[in-house]
Order: sequence, then structure tokens, then C-alpha cells
Amino acid sequence: MSFEELNLHPKILKAIAQAGYSKPTPIQQDAIPMIMSGRDLRASAQTGTGKTAAFMLPTLNRLIEPSALPGRGPRVLVLVPTRELAMQVATEAVKYSKFLSRMKTVCLFGGVPYPMQIRELARPYEILVATPGRLLDHCEQNRIDFSRLELFILDEADRMLDMGFISSVEQLAATLPKTVQTLMFSATLKGNIYNLSQRLLKDPLEVSVIPVKQNKENIQQNLYFVDNLSHKLQLLEHLLENQALDQTIIFTSTKRYAEQLVTILKESGHHAAALHGDMNQHKRTQTLLRIRQGKTRILVATDVAARGIDVQAIGHVINFDLPMNVEDYVHRIGRTGRAETKGVAISFAAPQDFMMLKKIEQYIEQAIAPCVIEGMEAQTKPEAHLSRPRSRPGRGFAGRGRGGHSAPRGNQQERGSYQENRGEKRAERPSRSYKGNGKNSSFGNSSYGKPRQNGYGASSVAPTKSRYSN
Ligand code: AMP
Repeated sequence: MSFEELNLHPKILKAIAQAGYSKPTPIQQDAIPMIMSGRDLRASAQTGTGKTAAFMLPTLNRLIEPSALPGRGPRVLVLVPTRELAMQVATEAVKYSKFLSRMKTVCLFGGVPYPMQIRELARPYEILVATPGRLLDHCEQNRIDFSRLELFILDEADRMLDMGFISSVEQLAATLPKTVQTLMFSATLKGNIYNLSQRLLKDPLEVSVIPVKQNKENIQQNLYFVDNLSHKLQLLEHLLENQALDQTIIFTSTKRYAEQLVTILKESGHHAAALHGDMNQHKRTQTLLRIRQGKTRILVATDVAARGIDVQAIGHVINFDLPMNVEDYVHRIGRTGRAETKGVAISFAAPQDFMMLKKIEQYIEQAIAPCVIEGMEAQTKPEAHLSRPRSRPGRGFAGRGRGGHSAPRGNQQERGSYQENRGEKRAERPSRSYKGNGKNSSFGNSSYGKPRQNGYGASSVAPTKSRYSN
């Protein structure tokens, strides 16, 4: 199917062509006609599927017709869970509407001063992209007139729920005109999300695209077993020495660890920056800009902060700490391999991560190829992971929510801070240099990405050839 067959306005088709999209993605093929029919929609689509354009293109198509109602409030409200996603969605709205007249987008999120936003809200605009908290603040001050609202789009509703925004969402939805067309996009449509959709949507159509988890052939997923934190740091240093490792996002389990790891990486001479929820908006925006401009090579991020990052140059994602839940694994690796480019996702798994690893593999319906670097193999055999007790150290922490103000789990909790562990020698490991020009290292030759020849469950999948092993 072509974009032309979707009956989009020629000016929108021109913007699509300029964006370089040759054909609609599956979610776009399915959702665009449904949205154009005017019915409510419940869509299961994850980031990386082209879901933003799936709702933005038909939205713009509708906005070309002037509103029948007087007023200057928004005609479309897109509610998103994070600031980064808000900026991302607003950027796409501007990109696809560049040849349309009277198509102003306003983007609202917290952590920035109010005056500029108040000025923007005072002028006519059509599209409002916002996070719930700041939007409610403005609504309470009567700065937004929803009387001519036609479309209400809830993006990443599952994350909205995870972040505790659901009552705000319902509060807002109750103030919108009863005639609005409501679209809900979510990675999953189960449980509470389904219940929410039942409350918000009227007789909705439903669409579900092949989840990213089953559709990520362009992302090579690799796994390194590690013994402890010190081992992780050594492996990381080794991987980063390789010049072929271009722009990379490293995920840690907590904000504190993100900061600590950045300090360590900077000390080793890497261009690294942190991205997490404790940073003010200006700093977060600057950090993302530097990544987009290619000035920062390594971003060390937490899950929430990294949501919505869409930088095509991100060639690698490293799960320094495994995520707390399986959906986050998919979201993390989806930061690379954007828009059909190739990407590599590397995960470190310590003994106590074994259960999570198994859950991830079940969720993505594939085993992750274990790799070894010669001389840096885990001393704990993967089989030993199986026999470890199920209760993980750091259990109390694991139950305290996501995103990590809390104590770290697993090795980190047992072993103190990243810095403390940095110089720790792994007694049994053959001595070798992890710094320097990498000439002594096996990275870059055949040993990187070499699949393990043991009986760990992952062996059922033939590991793809590492891009470094050429
Ligand atoms: P999303 O799932 O909305 O986060 O989009 C993921 C990426 O796919 C973004 O970088 C979009 O610009 C890109 N994209 C959206 N639609 C298409 C398309 N039809 N062809 C190629 N890339 C696309």
C-alpha cells in the first residue's frame, strides 16, 4: 500500500515524501483509515512502529477543514506521559504539517517556566501536545478552552498508568466535549488499560500491530553473563574502546547509578552524559540536543527519561542493569534500530538477573544470543544461575516502583556504589589491561560476539554475526 492510497491531502503527502517515508508502516495502513472514519480507536502499537504518524497524519488531514466552531482553543489534544515524548510528538506534528497553513502546535510539559507557555496558549493554535500534570495546572487557571476540541489522543497509555497519571487523565477527559473522537495508543491493552479504554472510548474500533518484540530483525540482541558489578564495568570499558561502537544509550536501574556511571566514563575519557528525571528540563533538552547533534557519544539513562528518545544515529543500547519489567526491555532496545536502521542491543546479566532474563526471553519469544569476550568470560557458569535461590537480593527495592529513587538491586546493592566497585579486582580473572587503545583486546576481532558453545537456553537461536567480528 502507498500513502497516496490513504487519501491524505497532497500537502501532507509532500511532507511525508520529504521525511523520506516510502510506504506506510502496518499500524499506519490499519489505523489511518479507521481514524479517518471518525470512530474511536483502541490501538496496540509500540514505539518504533510509526504510531505517532499513524495518529498525526489523519489528524492533520482532518484539521485542513476549518473548524465549524468559533474559539481559539485546541482542536486536538495529544496527552503523553513524558516530556521527551511530548517534544517528540510535537516535532512530528510540525514536520508533517509544514506545508499546511494555520496549523500551530503548542507543547506543554513541566519543569520549565510558565510565562512562555502562557504566551503560547494566548495565541490561536490547533494542536496541543501535553503531559498531564502541567496541562492540569493550566486548566485550573482557565488558560485552555476545549470547546472546539475534536480529537483526544492518549499516547503510551500503559506508561501513563505506570507513572500514576490515570486519575489525572480521567479528570481531564471528563472536562472535554462529549463529541470528541478519542484514540488510545498503548503497548498493551490488557488489565487496567483495557478497563480505562472501556471508560474513555465509545464503541471503539480496535487495531493491533505485530509487537515490536516480534518485529525487531533489525536489532541484533546480545547477552553477556557477568559475575558482579566490577565485571560489568570492565566489560563496558572494553566494549566502549571499540570505535565501531557509535552513539550508545546505556541503561542503569537508578538515577544515582546513571550519574555515577557518567562520572566513571568521563574519567576514562568518554564523552558521556546522564539523562534522568532529577535533571531540570533545560538540562534534559540540552543533553538530548547534544546527542542529536552527535556531540555526545554515550547517554546513560533511566527508563522513564529515555522514553520517547528518537535519535536515528543510536547504533547501540547497553542494558548495564537489566530492566525491572519486560516491557521496558522492549522499549529500551527500541531506542536503536529506529526507522529500519540497524542496531545492536547488549545486555549484561548477573546471576541474580537470571529470572528476569528468562521472563524477557519469554516475552520477546526468542532467546538472546550469549556472547563472550576472550579472557573476560563470566566465572559463574550460566548453569549455576539456574540453581540460585529465587529470592533476589534487593527484593524490597524491586517492589518500590520503577525508575529508581530507591536502592539498586542485585549486585549493586550487595556491593555498594559503582565507584567503589570500579577498582575492585576480580581475583580469579586473568590479569589484563582494560584501558588503552584496545590493541591488546580481542574486541574488534573474531572473539567479540562469539556465541557461547554451552547448553544455556539461548543456544536454540543461532546468534547473528556480530557487526564487530568482520
Ligand atoms: P514512532 O513509532 O512514532 O516512535 O516512530 C518511529 C520512527 O519511525 C520515527 O523516527 C518516525 O519518523 C519513523 N517513521 C514513521 N513512519 C514511517 C514510515 N512510514 N516509514 C519510515 N519511517 C517512519
